[in-house]
Amino acid sequence: MHFEKAYLKLTFFYVAIIMFLSVIFSIAIYNISAEELSTGLNRQTKVLNELPLKVDTMDSKIWPNFEQLRLNQIDESNNRLKINLFYYNLLILFFSSIISYFFAKKTLEPIEEAMSAQDRFTADASHELRTPLAAMRAEIEVNLRDKKLNVDDATKLLRSNLEEIEKLESLSNALLKMASYQQEGNLSFLEVSLAEVLVEAYGKVESLASKKSIEFENELQDISIKGDKPSLVELFVILLDNSIKYSPEKSRIAIKLKSQDGKIIVKIKDNGVGIKATDLPYIFNRFYRADTSRSKEKINGYGLGLSIAKRIVELHKGSILVKSIPNKGSEFIITFSKLK
Ligand code: ADP
Repeated sequence: MHFEKAYLKLTFFYVAIIMFLSVIFSIAIYNISAEELSTGLNRQTKVLNELPLKVDTMDSKIWPNFEQLRLNQIDESNNRLKINLFYYNLLILFFSSIISYFFAKKTLEPIEEAMSAQDRFTADASHELRTPLAAMRAEIEVNLRDKKLNVDDATKLLRSNLEEIEKLESLSNALLKMASYQQEGNLSFLEVSLAEVLVEAYGKVESLASKKSIEFENELQDISIKGDKPSLVELFVILLDNSIKYSPEKSRIAIKLKSQDGKIIVKIKDNGVGIKATDLPYIFNRFYRADTSRSKEKINGYGLGLSIAKRIVELHKGSILVKSIPNKGSEFIITFSKLK
């Protein structure tokens, strides 16, 4: 609603500029036309004066009248021109107001969208921060009221608090990462081997995979791109971590890196829970988590991983898309341009 005021303000400025120009042009048109008119009529009078008319054949009163007539004609034409220009300006004011409002809206829409995204983000982040804090507070209060609190209870409380602190830590880490990837200047782009990046990322999630006895099939061609290695490792850690998180035990995950049709393609395919078609358009949004009891209750996360992953891909001028069938699995496909 507060944007309505901004629309009107911008519209006013646009209209003021248009009207300023229109009035300047109108004055110029008026001056030029008035000048032309009087020169034209002067020329006419001169021609008439030069005609070999005998003054005595003419009514002596005609000449002064003719001069008066000429002046009246100039006045009348000038007045008509003034009125016409006034109406044209009114018309311009009317149409420019409508068009300016439309353009003001178009100009401010992206800013409005960015601001409401920012508001949503702040609200979501505060909510996520408050949840573990509220849980910790409730537990501490209950335990403090307990007069017979023993060491076992206190240890249980501290353990549970530690879990909440770990959650808060991982949330603030994710938020910091997100902030650092907002600016391209934080990255340094050098020639990096994508196969090496994938192996490094795999190394970071290997222990999680072996806990669930998940096997990997890797098919990696030796391909390099121009990129920032730490962020690329981060990207693939997020995707591999997700495919492990959302896969059942003893399943398989395939990683493929190849060059195809002048592009470099990385595919990460799992046989996990999959993503519903209705969730697919939103999974790259910040804080979005697919609303299934499976992912909500058992699997930790804040819905920030994929939005960070998408940002990293964008910083490398690549694209990321996902194909998924519920209960069958998901495939994330990342495409980069070739090194020139
Ligand atoms: P998080 O995993 O922390 O919830 P992400 O941003 O990484 O957040 O993922 C967003 C959502 O996308 C997840 O909550 C999950 O529902 C879905 N998702 C991501 N990767 C996969 C995958 N490999 N298999 C199934 N669902 C996935």
